[in-house]
Amino acid sequence: MSGADAPPSGADPDAEAEGGSTEDSDMELLRNLLARTLGLGSEPPERVLDELSLTGIARFMQSERCRRVVCMVGAGISTAAGIPDFRSPETGLYANLGRYDLPYPEAIFDISYFKQHPEPFFALAKELLPGQLKPTVCHYFMRLLKEKGLLLRCYTQNIDTLERVAGLQPEELVEAHGTFQTAHCLRSSCRHQYDLSWVKEKIFSSLVPKCDKCQSVVKPDIVFFGENLPSRFFSLLQSDFQKVDLLIIMGTSLQVQPFASLVSRVPASTPRLLINKEKTGQSDAFMSLMGFGCGMDFDSDKAYRQGLGVWGGLGGGH
Ligand SMILES: [Zn+2]
Repeated sequence: MSGADAPPSGADPDAEAEGGSTEDSDMELLRNLLARTLGLGSEPPERVLDELSLTGIARFMQSERCRRVVCMVGAGISTAAGIPDFRSPETGLYANLGRYDLPYPEAIFDISYFKQHPEPFFALAKELLPGQLKPTVCHYFMRLLKEKGLLLRCYTQNIDTLERVAGLQPEELVEAHGTFQTAHCLRSSCRHQYDLSWVKEKIFSSLVPKCDKCQSVVKPDIVFFGENLPSRFFSLLQSDFQKVDLLIIMGTSLQVQPFASLVSRVPASTPRLLINKEKTGQSDAFMSLMGFGCGMDFDSDKAYRQGLGVWGGLGGGH
């Protein structure tokens, strides 16, 4: 807290947009959280969209007000590129793991199991890694945002590297669940780094990748169960989600925490656009009460700020 005794700024629609708002951001965050959780919202948030529609969003994006766009993306933007959602229990993948003789299906992505038995993971990776990586229109849309100078950051749950293939730079990305782009030797005294092509060559030859230096197993830098999310995720979200002008969420059912909770961290006036195959992310009273509000209420007038949902296929592979 700043210790300043001025009231939190930003609530008054006539207030100056610049200045003062960042130093009171902690208070603002707390106020917003309380207001949302307890339904105490006093003043309605400022309306920045002239119309709650895609046209309204497009007009906003062309205006001076919209300078920083954050994208949050999930498996749905990569399915058109032929990449199955292979960490999601809903894909049916877990039901087809019988041949790997796992103690339990999720063990294939469990770090302690992997250290003892890396073979099943690499056998699965061989089946699932596409030979050729072709980004979809969703990936190129984010590239376009970058070229227009609008992309503050892309937070992705995907590990398929398609954001990088489409032309986003590592500093523009937060790969919340890690990435196949790089891999490291598991031995803590070695940690030698390898790239995707080196790992792919081993995987496609049905070999468990072993370190050239010390012969320990080399693990792709994806986040396994039992591993922490990258520190970059936690360090950047603090500032990114305080200054974002527009949040675009694509191809994620907002089921996986802590990723899903990010949608609640944007300022009250920031519009949120959710593009997904199924209607999703709706308020769960219990989760909201617990302060994990990932709710996006699209059906209620009171929740104007909550944003716009667009449902339907996220096609566009080519
Ligand atoms: Zn090594």
